[in-house]
Amino acid sequence: MISDVKGFLLDMDGVLYHGDRPLPQAADFMAAIAGRPYCFITNNPVLPPEKVVAKLARLGIVETTTERIVTAAEATADWLAARTPGFRYFAVGGEGLHRALAGRGHEDPGHADYVVVGEGALDFDAIVTGIDLILHHGAKLIGTNPDASVDGSRGGRALVLPGGGALIAPFAVATGARPVFIGKPEPVLYRAALQRIGLMPADCLMIGDRPDTDILGAQRLGMKTALVRTGRFGPGEALPPGVAAPDIDVGGLADLIAALRL
Ligand SMILES: [Mg+2]
Repeated sequence: MISDVKGFLLDMDGVLYHGDRPLPQAADFMAAIAGRPYCFITNNPVLPPEKVVAKLARLGIVETTTERIVTAAEATADWLAARTPGFRYFAVGGEGLHRALAGRGHEDPGHADYVVVGEGALDFDAIVTGIDLILHHGAKLIGTNPDASVDGSRGGRALVLPGGGALIAPFAVATGARPVFIGKPEPVLYRAALQRIGLMPADCLMIGDRPDTDILGAQRLGMKTALVRTGRFGPGEALPPGVAAPDIDVGGLADLIAALRL
């Protein structure tokens, strides 16, 4: 029963904002759940948690803290540290990934245990280095997130940018290595967030805008799910194969507030 929900995991882009534009009722929704356990989870490995906190405040959505933000980059660094304390890595990606990894492991392009691919500029030399580490030094290939593409902008113009799943392809194709992915719909990111708020999956509601990642991954773990059709997935669109009907399926946050009787 949805009335048994004790806490919330929230995706952000497409749920609370689009790029730099807050969505209707985003601040109202966050105010309504303020007294309950919640955590934001994002496949975006580029922004460090402090910058996510700053963005949520700047858009007037919620004043929160870094403990409530679990990014794919942070979850990747934690997962590697748990498997291989003091791990050595070679990483390709943005500020959020490099900072997360540097806090828990050692950058070592000569003897890396892991080649870690996030999102951001990718040059030919980095591909060559990563391939050599995988083929000749036994490095494992890790992807922060499997998204084929992500929404972005250049010079004010909206563009589709390659996601972590696209950027890891040269390493995977050239070596035959099968990457391990940390972000949604894989379970690691959800588990990291559930651990932070101290709840079991069945007690928690995942709120997201993408059936194929946010909702599917949460269903696999036994969480309750709410699909908000304000992102890439619009009202009236049929669910993709393999995704069961979410517990709540609404057109926006106003309807979610009503459905949860907040
Ligand atoms: Mg989203």
